Amino acid sequence: MSSELSHHAYYRLPWTLADNAITWLEPTTRCNLYCEGCYRENDPHGHKPLETVIAELEVVKRLRNTDGISIAGGEPLIYPHIVDLVRYIAAQGWKPIINSNGQELTAGLLTDLRDAGLTGMTFHVDSHQVRPGWQGRTEAELNELRLKLATLVHDVGRGRIACAFNATIYRDTLDEVPMLARWAQQHMDIVHSMVFILFRSARKRGGLNAYVRGRRVDVGRLVYRLEHQEDHHDIVAHEAVDALRTAYPDYAPCAYLNGTEDPASLKWLLGLRFGHADRVYGYADRRFIEWVQTAHHFIRGTYLAYTRPWVLRHGWTLLPLAVANRGLRRIVWQRLRQPKEWFAPLRLQSIMIIQPCDILPDGRQNMCDGCPDAVPYDGRLVWSCRLEELKEFGAFVTFAPRTKRASATAKAPIPTAAEGDASPLLEDADTARRDER
Ligand code: SF4
Repeated sequence: MSSELSHHAYYRLPWTLADNAITWLEPTTRCNLYCEGCYRENDPHGHKPLETVIAELEVVKRLRNTDGISIAGGEPLIYPHIVDLVRYIAAQGWKPIINSNGQELTAGLLTDLRDAGLTGMTFHVDSHQVRPGWQGRTEAELNELRLKLATLVHDVGRGRIACAFNATIYRDTLDEVPMLARWAQQHMDIVHSMVFILFRSARKRGGLNAYVRGRRVDVGRLVYRLEHQEDHHDIVAHEAVDALRTAYPDYAPCAYLNGTEDPASLKWLLGLRFGHADRVYGYADRRFIEWVQTAHHFIRGTYLAYTRPWVLRHGWTLLPLAVANRGLRRIVWQRLRQPKEWFAPLRLQSIMIIQPCDILPDGRQNMCDGCPDAVPYDGRLVWSCRLEELKEFGAFVTFAPRTKRASATAKAPIPTAAEGDASPLLEDADTARRDER
């Protein structure tokens, strides 16, 4: 049975469209791998001129207060100006973070990136990637690659580059979540964050039609609509937590982002654990993360994205806060009960579960409210997970129940401001007649 998780129990991260910890940037749409869950069309000519990317950063500057810039793509490490781009972002006072598959990472390139001001490396490694030399490997076998990448970041980063891992989770890899969380714990000294992205396919939904500006469209044209995933049943955050709790029964998230249509849905679910390779002492509570986000905004003017590895490796520096925080007091107490470990290191590691766009039965699309991964596009900030819709159709896709014309019109969702230029669903008579047949 699925865990009962109530959003009321957690701190709602204060991230919004205008003021957010993170913002997404895509200097290229070219990639050197094929990942099943990827949202982006791989374009061999996808490198943007550096001036274009800098112009996109001006859009970010104009529209959003942000702490970090997640440089993604495509594969950012094959972008020819990546070092200059990282240097430019750091010079603007933002934390540059690279989201990469890691294939092209060398000690030399990482040294250049570190010296240019890189703050974080987030590696996407999972068993549904078509990765030369690693094809057909299980998630457990891929830990060898994960460790190689994390060690490189640790050795070259000199405490200046945080290291995170993303894994897209499918039905057939949901059972691997506890193993991945255990692996992350074993390497808490060099792995600072583990992110589970729950796979979504823009599959043809029974009972729903897709529209753009009132016209029927075929979502089969989108890169992330996969024939062989037609029967895929979306995984929700609750299931990922259930899986985590098979290895960590007391696993407790502390913060979340809700959905734009369903306030109780947990689109981003954050847990912060204190411990070391052999033991987890406990989890930060909602007050702790509220303090961290509020204090960072008060002192630095932005909500916190990436924390410096030094702080994460020296979790004891946060323990004085236990005087006022019950969650930390519990962690201190657990530590005191293990006298042999009093002088063992205390690490901090985050576990994030991300549940991208849900399409509700009535066709509404439940996006992450305060989307951190919004990307500059055409002078505005849009959901990066649905950017292909703008490229393919010129506007976002909306869905409506496949019913008679009157009821379809009555139930048509009203686009929110965040849906940009998506038009109300005005089903034309021909389409309605076709559907009735
Ligand atoms: S709405 Fe899409 S792009 Fe934004 S955070 Fe959620 S999954 Fe990422």
